[in-house]
Amino acid sequence: MTQTVQTVLGPLSVDQLGLTLMHEHLKIGYPGWEVDTTLVFDREAELADAIARLERLRALGVSTFVDPCPMELARDPEFMADAARESGIHIVCSTGLYIEQGLELAGFPAYFRALGIEQIQRIYTTELRDGVGERCVRPGVIKCATGPHKVGEHEEKSLRAGARAALERDVRITTHTTMGSMGNEQLDILMGEGLPANHIVIGHCDWNPDTAYHRSLMERGCYIGFDGVGIDVLLPDDTRISNLVELIEAGFERQIVLSHDHIGCWHFRPEDAPPVVTSTQADPKRSYTYLLEEFIPKLQKAGASERAIDTMLVDNPRRYFAGEPL
Ligand SMILES: [Zn+2]
Repeated sequence: MTQTVQTVLGPLSVDQLGLTLMHEHLKIGYPGWEVDTTLVFDREAELADAIARLERLRALGVSTFVDPCPMELARDPEFMADAARESGIHIVCSTGLYIEQGLELAGFPAYFRALGIEQIQRIYTTELRDGVGERCVRPGVIKCATGPHKVGEHEEKSLRAGARAALERDVRITTHTTMGSMGNEQLDILMGEGLPANHIVIGHCDWNPDTAYHRSLMERGCYIGFDGVGIDVLLPDDTRISNLVELIEAGFERQIVLSHDHIGCWHFRPEDAPPVVTSTQADPKRSYTYLLEEFIPKLQKAGASERAIDTMLVDNPRRYFAGEPL
């Protein structure tokens, strides 16, 4: 088993992870934003804003923030390191690539499409070992992603490269799925490469309203993410809550992790941002604190015990990063 997890400020004992939000983002940019030379960002202002948001989380008892931003969506490990240092929140960043198709926000730029599995694996492994940028900030998790209802050829390369790098470096995988599909196909590929299921979080499972889908994944031994808490356009929270209560009652709370998938800052001029960006920014439920301040009390009222909630927010992240058996 693994005793430490790599954060953006260095290794941390898994016992110190504490209350962990397993899927959030400090900032995201559509691939190509950096080519727009007319777009200027005030890094200091962005950072001050991120720190203020993280400090609010810390006041609520959150200790760790996993930001599985794929490499090509404006991932900024040095920004994360500065935010972690100033706020006192542990941040885990990722290596890995996003979906190649299926959403307005797709990734996998041409440069990576031209690479094979071994080459992508080498990039992941090098980042995990040596870090990113001048300050050599090391990722602590690998992100893989698939679009809706199929696994694209580049997505499959990234899944295989991710699994191999995860085995080589003893790190975990966390995934993006789209429209509640392809979780089992992701497991087929990752486990087919020899990765243990308990080293994997299949993300965004709450996008699918069918608990038979959730069970089909967890019965194979992985964790699943109910990590879109508050995103009513994907699934109303009432359904998210009734599904969680049903799965907890069936004994699956040791395999579920919770988060918002909130994006604190987008790399757009406000007037240029597409509706998907502006609508989420206007929604009061889209914040890093909604889960603890509003969702958890509702979940408790619906029947989830305090113990089950602690299991999902504290124990499961620690056991996942430690690689502990379920
Ligand atoms: Zn995300």
